[in-house]
Amino acid sequence: MAVKRILTIDNAADLAILKRVSTPVEAVDDSVRALMDDMLDTMYAAPGIGLAAVQIGDLLRVVVMDLGDGPAPDGEAGGEPASEEEAARRPNPRFFANPEVLWASDEQFCYEEGCLSIPEYYDEVERPARVRVAYLNREGERIEEEIEGLYAVCFQHELDHLNGVLFIDHLSRLRRDRAVTKVKKTMRLREDA
Ligand code: ZN
Repeated sequence: MAVKRILTIDNAADLAILKRVSTPVEAVDDSVRALMDDMLDTMYAAPGIGLAAVQIGDLLRVVVMDLGDGPAPDGEAGGEPASEEEAARRPNPRFFANPEVLWASDEQFCYEEGCLSIPEYYDEVERPARVRVAYLNREGERIEEEIEGLYAVCFQHELDHLNGVLFIDHLSRLRRDRAVTKVKKTMRLREDA
């Protein structure tokens, strides 16, 4: 388990890697699970809610995610969280290898997205509201499910990463240029700090 450096678009060498298409895993073995663990550590440290392997420079089709709403911690009285906020904070790590979208709804959903490789820039992206997806989980079992809401947004955002696509690629050229300028400024300020 280790926290890795996250590639960012202001760095030309990083961007060249982020634009590459990742390769399917042959099987979810211990080396893939070790990668998943490093990715989860890196995502929690950032902090973020989703991370694709390419974002730490590994070109395998692997994604991790945590949207909260996990089981109650051991020893906590009762099963029900005290509030929605508390439920959202409960760890619920999810692991995906070779994720794919099998079907997408015509109905679209608009959500303000962000990305750890595009620090501190957020913009609205429209994607299918519901998708039927398939992937291998951490145990290597094939899962198929229909998903919606933030889970569907995040799944499609991360799957894009595996195909070399960033969320700003869904924006107009003007907004994309604005994003790149803003990220370069953000990263300069971080270096100076
Ligand atoms: Zn991202």
